[in-house]
Amino acid sequence: AAQLIDGKTVAQLIGKEVAAEIAKRHRNGQRTPGLAVILVGEDPASEVYVRNKQRACEQAGIHSVKHRLGADTTQAELERLVDNLNADLSIDGILLQLPLPAHLDARPILERIHPDKDVDGFHPYNLGRLAQRLPVLRPCTPKGIMRLLEHYQLPTRGLDATIVGASNIVGRPMALELLLAGATTTICHRFTHDLERHVRNAELLVVAVGKPGLVKGEWIREGAIVIDVGINRMEDGRLYGDIEFAPAAERAAWITPVPGGVGPMTVASLLENTLLAAQLHDAAH
Ligand code: NAD
Repeated sequence: AAQLIDGKTVAQLIGKEVAAEIAKRHRNGQRTPGLAVILVGEDPASEVYVRNKQRACEQAGIHSVKHRLGADTTQAELERLVDNLNADLSIDGILLQLPLPAHLDARPILERIHPDKDVDGFHPYNLGRLAQRLPVLRPCTPKGIMRLLEHYQLPTRGLDATIVGASNIVGRPMALELLLAGATTTICHRFTHDLERHVRNAELLVVAVGKPGLVKGEWIREGAIVIDVGINRMEDGRLYGDIEFAPAAERAAWITPVPGGVGPMTVASLLENTLLAAQLHDAAH
């Protein structure tokens, strides 16, 4: 049976590391890092995510400011807020919580966030830096997954890695991270003809789709490292991943639970990125 990859515990360790670094900044007379979180409209899942992120910031000593905008906010108003936050010297990181209400277009807003304050790592500049093997601010979920692999000393160089899901926020940057780490990387998506074949080949599997049980336990390669990014809330109120957990855990060597696997690591990466943004900010002024 597989060993559990405990993201909750590793995320707490990272939170403490960030807190220690911030305490050191204070002793050196440096600023408290500041994170602005923009939340538009009322999406219940987003409310929970923002609350978790703000609580983690508070524990780590990061000053977080929530900008709560109504569901009728215009594109121009959102742009103005981003411009103000870009110019605000007390703010090191800007996070636009997605999804936005349907009448708003996230892309131009994400591109308006200054790349040095792009703590989600979604700006084309930061994604481009990762693609060219010069990462600065890296997307939080893939970065958190790489941190988990490092923590458990699971080397990735040369591994056959399969990623299921090709979104801008998880699948694609995950592929860039694994490529950078030396894995032989395959990306599957909704048009993939034979998903099972690519999963069966995977020594390292990362699934980020949002369909509970999409990946069957019997497809898992014996001894594989299995990372489930999916978060699916079922009718019973519980959270499930995209992989059939129990049969997958029979075959895998290592596996992440849902919840308590990747989710907390995404928040931990946000803390690290906000600290890094503050360090960049100091170096630039
Ligand atoms: P998305 O909807 O943007 O992308 C889904 C991807 O899955 C697409 O690339 C699509 O082509 C692919 N896909 C759809 N059906 C498929 C199929 N049958 N076979 C293979 N590929 C298929 O989703 P996202 O934003 O990347 O999020 C994916 C999941 O991860 C969601 O459940 C989301 O809640 C979760 N998530 C978790 C965290 C975390 O911190 N744990 C962070 C972000 C997203």
